[in-house]
Amino acid sequence: MNIHEYQAKELLAKFGVAVPQGYAAMSVEEAVEASKKLPGPLYVVKAQIHAGGRGKGKFKELGPDAKGGVRLARTEDEVRHAAGEMLGNTLVTIQTGAEGKQVQRLYVTDGVDIAKEFYLALLVDRATGRIAVVASTEGGMDIEDVAHNTPEKITTITIDPATGLMPHHGRAVAAALKLEGDLAKQAAKVLQGLYNAFLGTDASQIEINPLAVTDTGQLMVLDAKVGFDSNAMFRHPDLAELRDLTEEDPMEVEASKYDLAYIKLDGDIGCMVNGAGLAMATMDIIKLHGAFPANFLDVGGGANKEKVTAAFKIILSDPAVKGILVNIFGGIMRCDIIAEGIIAAAKEVNLGVPLVVRLEGTNVEEGKRILAESGLPIVAANDLGDAAQKIVAQVKQAA
Ligand code: GDP
Ligand code: MG
Repeated sequence: MNIHEYQAKELLAKFGVAVPQGYAAMSVEEAVEASKKLPGPLYVVKAQIHAGGRGKGKFKELGPDAKGGVRLARTEDEVRHAAGEMLGNTLVTIQTGAEGKQVQRLYVTDGVDIAKEFYLALLVDRATGRIAVVASTEGGMDIEDVAHNTPEKITTITIDPATGLMPHHGRAVAAALKLEGDLAKQAAKVLQGLYNAFLGTDASQIEINPLAVTDTGQLMVLDAKVGFDSNAMFRHPDLAELRDLTEEDPMEVEASKYDLAYIKLDGDIGCMVNGAGLAMATMDIIKLHGAFPANFLDVGGGANKEKVTAAFKIILSDPAVKGILVNIFGGIMRCDIIAEGIIAAAKEVNLGVPLVVRLEGTNVEEGKRILAESGLPIVAANDLGDAAQKIVAQVKQAA
């Protein structure tokens, strides 16, 4: 689960990390009011979307020469103008994809004079099973290019969970950023704050870009991207409230209501499977037969008819889906229940694409009978290979 920059900065401030003063705004008037509460003379008006690269982004509705989603303003009129151009318009950045994201919130912050920009991130390194700290002197808007062209300018330090964060980690980060004296001390303090925030919130990533040295010698977080482990959100009801559903894929939001593990993918064969392992095997075998899955969907072990119906509707609501493969092993979940769910859903939604079903397990004969007698054009398959072959053939034939 990701949150907006303004929420991330408010959170980090609670952990003692220095951030510029700022206020969220949902309208042009609120943005102007926010700027009046700030000391000035420089303000920053920032589009709040769950994607980076806003500064270099472009608004679809504005011309190619218009400014991006992070703008400096010096007067009330400039704040008003910037807010008016951003709110309601669609910002396209390297991270949003071509469709872009509509800007519904702004963050108006105190503008600081930047002497130097750094990159500092904490994330879970799966290879070492530790929190990794990634630091670079080349902060700002082109960190992807730095990683690609000059990876030696990026330093990675991992933290042993048995010792936790130690003073030497702080010194190592300061050294990686080439900071000395008071700024080195500030870097260690920022790192401590970020580390405490990471552990305290069950974060999966905290990315600060830029971490800036101001002209007055202060280290400040100017941009923050924070994501949490969704599986730990039950421990943080206050953080769960920060979720902005308008930023998420509507089908994934719908799936989460029914506790379905659903991830949208780029292919055209919708999959409904139970168990993550079987779902992965199903996706692999679809690829083996020359097609691509449109989603990952695990309906879980204890699914009921309502869940199966919801899952089926979610798959069918994806316009990219050209065919559906249902592959269920009925252990706890009985095959006849699955069959009833499939039929109920197919009757509610107009089933305009081929459907191949492979059932195995408890009450499989009853499940097959229900499907066969439904009068729906359902193709039965005998095993996984047969199922994949059949759905790929059906989709290719229909194309
Ligand atoms: P991003 O483009 O989505 O990563 O948005 P950022 O918040 O990182 O802003 C992009 C760039 O705007 C930063 O790299 C800074 O160079 C600049 N910027 C952001 N805040 C300030 C500020 O307070 N003062 C100045 N002078 N520049 C800023
Ligand atoms: Mg940034």
